[in-house]
Amino acid sequence: MVPRWVGRGPLRARDNLERARGYRVVVDLELLAETLAGEPPYRARQVWEWTAGGAASYAEMTNLPAALRAALQERVPFSSLEVAHEARSQDGTVKVLFRTRDGHPVESVLMRYRDGRRSVCLSSQSGCPLTCTFCATGQMRFRRNLTASEILDQALHFRRIEPIDHVVFMGMGEPMLNLDAVLDAARCLPDLGVTHRRTTISTVGWLPGLRRFVDEVDEPIRLALSLHAPTDALRSEIMPVNDRYPLDDVLAECARYAQLRGRKVFVEYVMLAGVNDGVEQAEELTRILDPKLFKVNLIPYNPTGMYDGSPRAAIARFKSVLDRSHIPATVRLTRGRDIAAACGQLAAA
Ligand code: SAH
Repeated sequence: MVPRWVGRGPLRARDNLERARGYRVVVDLELLAETLAGEPPYRARQVWEWTAGGAASYAEMTNLPAALRAALQERVPFSSLEVAHEARSQDGTVKVLFRTRDGHPVESVLMRYRDGRRSVCLSSQSGCPLTCTFCATGQMRFRRNLTASEILDQALHFRRIEPIDHVVFMGMGEPMLNLDAVLDAARCLPDLGVTHRRTTISTVGWLPGLRRFVDEVDEPIRLALSLHAPTDALRSEIMPVNDRYPLDDVLAECARYAQLRGRKVFVEYVMLAGVNDGVEQAEELTRILDPKLFKVNLIPYNPTGMYDGSPRAAIARFKSVLDRSHIPATVRLTRGRDIAAACGQLAAA
């Protein structure tokens, strides 16, 4: 197997740095350093390049001496996650349940689209401490933040199946509660073939993390906001986190991102029948969203027990109100519902 980076020409110094960083989060650094002691300094980079290119084991890393490959195989675990279960949907979606070394469940999803796009949905936490009423992950027990390795190893798993080009942090957990690890992992994704512009972090609007994301992150990583309601009263009802970080503050921070970066923020809006899907709410939405800064993604509700999803006609009516106000709006294509891999359905026992 020839990894994708072969033939790209000599690596630039900056690439080396980035690759070294990537490599750092992939495996147990100390063990790796011990195992590579006495080897030339470029070995670590070679290991990372193979890994990011989709190698399935050290055995494939044919530019390493055989004895070194064997030593790595024996001493340094290749991934921080173990695959516990894999489910395949009729639409080609693949959901994987992993377990961390200490036994916590982590779910991730590979979505395959007809145009050839391959998008991976990553988890940032095992479970989630926020209790959004419509989301299955919010109903399970929160375990802990994932490490950067555990986040990246989810993407690497799918990279071993096939090339990937998009990543969304829309799996289990709230990325802004674990921002450092999320960013460490996201910064390695270009080596896997996923540029920052094709990487999206989705948040409920957890302000401390969101502020840092806007102020400190230079990379053109995209931002999505799970809004789901146009008023504080309704939003607090379905997303308790809204009591802590109210709508105006969250929207102001998102607007700041859009203005600073010149990139629109995606607004996610899950359509719950009779709850947030009326014309009145659509009109309120047009009052709080600047069409120059936001675009809306209407999400058909994936059943988790709590609500009924809006009928198609209600979604169309809602969208037509946004259309009339020139707020860019799309309806999300639902993937993987038959294997409970769709948005909000990730909840492992
Ligand atoms: N905590 C972050 C990351 C998870 S993203 C966030 O909430 O943004 C998962 C997306 O799926 C969010 O927009 C979430 O609101 C949405 N979602 C949750 N439950 C859903 C459901 N049952 N049907 C459709 N979308 C859902």
